[in-house]
Amino acid sequence: MADTLFPTTVIGSLPRPEWVREIILDRKNGTISEDEADRLLNPAIESALRLQERCGLDEVTDGEWRRESYVKIFAERVRGFKPDLIGTQWQMAYPAVVEPLEYYRPLTLDEAVFARQRTRARLKIALPAPYIVGRRMWHPDHSRRAYPTPEQLMTDCVPILRQEIGQLHQAGVDTIQLDEPWLSTLVDPKFREREGFTDLQYEMDLCVDLINQVVDGFDALDIGMHLCHAHFNYAHGTEGPYDVIMPALGKVNVGTISMEYATPVAGGMASLAQFPDGPRLGLGCIDHCDRNVETPETVAARVEQAMQYVDKQRITLHPDCGFSPSVQNPVDLDHAYLKLKSMCQAADMLREKHG
Ligand SMILES: [Zn+2]
Repeated sequence: MADTLFPTTVIGSLPRPEWVREIILDRKNGTISEDEADRLLNPAIESALRLQERCGLDEVTDGEWRRESYVKIFAERVRGFKPDLIGTQWQMAYPAVVEPLEYYRPLTLDEAVFARQRTRARLKIALPAPYIVGRRMWHPDHSRRAYPTPEQLMTDCVPILRQEIGQLHQAGVDTIQLDEPWLSTLVDPKFREREGFTDLQYEMDLCVDLINQVVDGFDALDIGMHLCHAHFNYAHGTEGPYDVIMPALGKVNVGTISMEYATPVAGGMASLAQFPDGPRLGLGCIDHCDRNVETPETVAARVEQAMQYVDKQRITLHPDCGFSPSVQNPVDLDHAYLKLKSMCQAADMLREKHG
């Protein structure tokens, strides 16, 4: 990515057409087998790849159209979880860990192999980071027997993710992205209160330390991290500028840090003054929660604003988040297509002007 000025990518998920949503839910309910679901999903995923290529993206994903959600994939593929035990906001239920983890098959290797054979674009695979797995899928009523604390669950995620990353690299994946929205949601005092977090520094250090354990030694790989305010049905779950987490970002040993900057809930670009010197900035420059499609000019202006803080050579363009991180998220696919296309047109304009 570093060879191209203003490279374009996605965060991960594309909105799933209704029939794809049904297949994923039928598979979960046991109405159809995994093999049958794959047979039906394969051509859908081909179309997700073609859609992204048509937009002109430099890097694509498979739209995460095999997953129920960006984070539940961990519980779907690693043994030890029981589905739908934990209720949350937005009426979405999450699995809880009930047994010690067992990595008996890859998490996303099938996604990677299928997509790698079908696109010549750079390929990204996103994986949930240990902190969000531990905070999201550990529950005192269900999980204590397997793991007395969420931290112990998080620690057990590390070797699993390291094995997965090794296999994805072998399969020809160009970029691996660790999704850790909660490092961003922590900036919101209302969120911290709701989750009972009294020690922000502890949470940030824990999250960063786990990511650094996952990526340790993978120096030759392109590994990024994505954080965001989480969203559902065109609305964010938390809000606030990133100033309090910026020092923590300086300690993360990843090549790219991808953040939301298009949405007003991120509080503007001034926090980029504290963006660390090392990593590339993945700049969220499309607001997926805005139902209007931004013009290329609007997107380019956002990038130029970021260039006041971060050198243009270090900026990658992407939407603020995946358009539909879970199967429940009702976002329109054409809406995503038009926004991605506009972003790629903005990248062309910027290369012309600043190249
Ligand atoms: Zn996100």
